[in-house]
Amino acid sequence: MRLSESIPAFALRSTLRLLLKPFLSPRWPVPTQRAWLQTLAGIGRLPRGVVRHAASVAGVPAERWQDERARPCRAGTVLYLHGGAYCVGSPRTHRALAAWLARDSGLPVVVPDYRLAPEHPFPAALDDALAVYDALAAQGPVLIAGDSAGGGLALALAVQVRDSGRPAPAGLALLSPWVDLRHAHQPPPVPGEAMLTAAWMQACAAHYAGTATGDPRVSPLLADHRGLPPVLIQCGTDELLCDQSRALHAALLAAGVDSTLEVEPHRWHVYPLHAGQLPSANAAVSRIARFALKALDASAPPHHAVHDVVILGAGMSGLCMAMKLQQQGRHDFVLLEQSDGLGGTWWDNRYPGAQVDVPAPVYAFSFAPNARWSQRFANAPEIQAYQQALAEKHGLFARLRLGARLSEARFDEATGLWHFRTARGDTLVSRFFVCSAGPLSQPRWPDIPGLDDFQGLRLHSARWDHGKKLAGLRVGVIGTGSTAVQLIPPIAREAAQLHVFQRTANWVLPRLERKYRWFDRVLAAFPPYALAVRTAWVQFLELGRRGFDEGTFMRRMMLGLAARQRRKGIANPALRRTLTPDYPLGCKRIIYSNDYYPALSQPNVAVVTTPIERITAHGIVTADGAERTMDALVCATGFDTVHLLQSLAIHGRGGRTLSEAWKDGPEALHGISVAGFPNLFLMLGPNTATGHTSTLLFIEPAADHAIACMREVERGGHRAIEVRADVQQAHNAALQQRLGGSVWAQCRSWYRTESGKVIAIFPGFVNQYVRAAREPRFADYVLDPGE
Ligand code: NAP
Repeated sequence: MRLSESIPAFALRSTLRLLLKPFLSPRWPVPTQRAWLQTLAGIGRLPRGVVRHAASVAGVPAERWQDERARPCRAGTVLYLHGGAYCVGSPRTHRALAAWLARDSGLPVVVPDYRLAPEHPFPAALDDALAVYDALAAQGPVLIAGDSAGGGLALALAVQVRDSGRPAPAGLALLSPWVDLRHAHQPPPVPGEAMLTAAWMQACAAHYAGTATGDPRVSPLLADHRGLPPVLIQCGTDELLCDQSRALHAALLAAGVDSTLEVEPHRWHVYPLHAGQLPSANAAVSRIARFALKALDASAPPHHAVHDVVILGAGMSGLCMAMKLQQQGRHDFVLLEQSDGLGGTWWDNRYPGAQVDVPAPVYAFSFAPNARWSQRFANAPEIQAYQQALAEKHGLFARLRLGARLSEARFDEATGLWHFRTARGDTLVSRFFVCSAGPLSQPRWPDIPGLDDFQGLRLHSARWDHGKKLAGLRVGVIGTGSTAVQLIPPIAREAAQLHVFQRTANWVLPRLERKYRWFDRVLAAFPPYALAVRTAWVQFLELGRRGFDEGTFMRRMMLGLAARQRRKGIANPALRRTLTPDYPLGCKRIIYSNDYYPALSQPNVAVVTTPIERITAHGIVTADGAERTMDALVCATGFDTVHLLQSLAIHGRGGRTLSEAWKDGPEALHGISVAGFPNLFLMLGPNTATGHTSTLLFIEPAADHAIACMREVERGGHRAIEVRADVQQAHNAALQQRLGGSVWAQCRSWYRTESGKVIAIFPGFVNQYVRAAREPRFADYVLDPGE
């Protein structure tokens, strides 16, 4: 366990044991318990930007929390029922949890001050909860949440809503819920329990329900659960009510309810109350928020929203843009992501062995270093974890709409606004449109006859199905690019037989692997060290750029390393010849691998270079007439980069689409701005890919450029900003002239169109791009003053 978790955990658990547990006891009068709890409630850290309002909902006093820095991204409210065993507790005692939930979900969170026992026994609390639910449900979808007794109350409320035919809640989030108040079910002591005692719970049960503890509205574990909405249950192992969570989860599953149980080891009763102080509590609240958002998105009808900025794509560039907007105090944006998770290419590319091929210190944003990398070349899951952690820390899930496939974007010249429509029928309007879908988002299947006839398992590397196993199968892999080279070694280890269909042999250089140990991580957490390492890598990788120029020392060195790698990795001279590239080094993406050649030398692996003629129901027929039968076909055939963004109708000025504007290949100023498409900014647009360093080094200046343009529009009270067509043309003419004689123009690759135009690569050093792109020259742009 990390120190940032274990130290506050120790302090908080000790505090609860010392200051709270002794007072939650039948020995103290209930008013004294309430007063003491209110006193302790002041301890806690609230998130910035979230505002509390006192409210009265259906006559029930309540607190309403909302992040007021931006317009909500979706309709819906969280109804949060606080715990306190029906006798103590209030919205005030649950402020930290409610506020963090409001921040992480972007939703209003309403915490009613429902009537408490013993003055107001059952069914007063349930009646109040129902009244509040009715009032909120009249305004839109509601997610019901609650902790401890509030969790039981939330479940009882959901059952009552169902039984009375009211509109169903979108979901139920139950934190350490108390769902069985019968004395006979009071649990044995749990050593780590920091808050509850069985004696106190029994006293509370008597105050609230008297002898009616067996009533399913009091002990909703006993209710009929069929037809309830999705439920998330969270609890800790060190609490009296953990068994009740498990029992409830089992009962819900038995009733056919979509229930998820999260049991946190070594955590106590309703540990998410410590959000803002304890990392595991923050993570738990973030998961509740994501559950709420998913449930609301699934159940809500099509929705209209207005924002300042719409960002398309939640990969590295979309996340960078979102965080940079926040840094500038601009919170009113929404991230639209067509996949079911964030991560972009790292969500799509989850094939076995997926790794980044630049060192991890440069695969983190300059403003968000990551001390947790386990190795120099981070693998896909840890990159995703980094992205996830950034989204959690910056509250980005609240601004993210997953499964939102944009079908149309249209610029309205009269207003200078972009209008959007999603496949689901949602509509959005924004002043600025940031398109960060990335060049490697559209998988390309091979154009080989018979592909659809194949009856075995067919996988594309960018749409991997982890449910399908290749162990013991006869597998064919088409492609030998960066992706194939990573997935071939793990497949070779488990497949009965592997045929690798190579159309072009590629340049393979050694990978400077290194595991990061604990002391690397400790040092990496020290900002000056992290900065020094990052700067050193940026400079070192820049040397690689020289390797693309004929006659340089760097190129000679790289050629030598590639030859050595072949000699070292391939013992068989015939195989070595087969794997020797016949095009200039660097023309396609250089591959860095230490295990590819050894994998190809395995006895169960064969490299096939005879061209593929067709695919049959059971295998692949090559031009020599030979058919190789196989159970699984893996296409590592890359992405469609030429028809960038063409699956989406983006209409600019005069209704012209981006596809029309780009009929001769994509073009933009610095890969960011496109003439005829005002207020549109591309991240990783045309000619921003790099063959020698981290793409993140290009994303950051592009985001700065776009935000500076947005500021300029607002500063001058303009309606829109648009790059001048002559500037874009001159910029691209210069780029193409530079690229014409370069190494990238000398072979077929995803960097080029069929006509040979290099549309993906930026030909220079990172510094050259950063200097040119970071600060926009407003002379390159036209600002539309509007009316
Ligand atoms: P790719 O570089 O475009 O490679 C596609 C492979 O499929 C090539 O070997 C290509 O052969 C072959 N191919 C395509 N169509 C074919 C057909 N009809 N018949 C036979 N072979 C066919 O795609 P990728 O490997 O997925 O890599 C794309 C980019 O993703 C990389 O350049 C890199 O930028 C990025 N990437 C990065 C990492 C990383 O950071 N670690 C990992 C994976 C990918 P030809 O060469 O003959 O066309």
